[in-house]
Amino acid sequence: VKNGRIMTEGYHQQYGEYHAERNALMKCEYDLTGADMYVTLEPCCHQGKTPPCTDIIIERGIGRVFIGTLDPNPLIAGKGVQVLKEHGLKVETGILERECQELNEIFFQYISTGIPYVAMKYAMTLDGKIATFTGDSKWVTGDVARHHVHEMRKKYSAIMVGIGTVLVDDPMLNCRIEQDVDPLRIVCDSHLRIPLNSQLVRTAKTIPTMVAYATGDEDKLEALREAGVQLVQINDNGRVNFKELMIELGKRKIDSVLIEGGGTFHGTVLKSGLVKRIYCYIAPKLIGGKEAKSPVEGDGFSLMKEALEITETEILKLGEDICVTGKVVQPE
Ligand code: ZN
Repeated sequence: VKNGRIMTEGYHQQYGEYHAERNALMKCEYDLTGADMYVTLEPCCHQGKTPPCTDIIIERGIGRVFIGTLDPNPLIAGKGVQVLKEHGLKVETGILERECQELNEIFFQYISTGIPYVAMKYAMTLDGKIATFTGDSKWVTGDVARHHVHEMRKKYSAIMVGIGTVLVDDPMLNCRIEQDVDPLRIVCDSHLRIPLNSQLVRTAKTIPTMVAYATGDEDKLEALREAGVQLVQINDNGRVNFKELMIELGKRKIDSVLIEGGGTFHGTVLKSGLVKRIYCYIAPKLIGGKEAKSPVEGDGFSLMKEALEITETEILKLGEDICVTGKVVQPE
């Protein structure tokens, strides 16, 4: 910004490419001497896949830099600010800090913990069922809501279901939007029960697919490998431990996971304390039935005061359906 006018804008478009600062400054031909710069994240000062952003900010003669949040990596935080100050720029930090962090909640969590950001998604009727008592679940919500789910999947590096969902629904778990990269599909399958003729296994050569298991026989493992499935063994007393699995995925550069399982899997996953956000799609339908499945099963809590709370809720209207999303309040 110079003399009250926005001179240029930019954002980090893709991993490995120029950061926002460089994108904004490179496309502006005007003299930016003494201009103010507003950035959501502290400019980097190290050579990564691209040159340091502080270099170009200094070269262009920017006078003041207003920063939303410092670099989430504690080893780097403040270093960009320091470099700018050493070159005589005025720097202010913490401008709309919380809002800036929220713009990028996945990145902040992954960079600072190495554990993927976990969100949970499910669709239910107005009476809180995810399927009828016969198990029929196609479809709970309408076209607009389902399209919204496909759009949302793109934001996550991986989509995960429990083996129960594969056995009952035989899902594809792709984005169904052309020209998009499909997220990695992960099945949590302790005893390697996934059928070789399931849609996930049959399409594993074209859409990346992983099965996390605890125990399984060598022939089945070989057949899955042959079909193009990536295999990860996490054996915690014969079960896949969700937290250990997340740590392993983090090491494999998976920064975010969207859970789309059934009630049993959701019950287990919520107990891990790793779920950060819920997306609950609600269709204005009533199906009833005490045997009809609900979105979170397991044992549940005995008292209302123990309930997991969701905060900062937002409501989206999607055709006749609605989506309620919010952050899971993390225990102290
Ligand atoms: Zn940078």
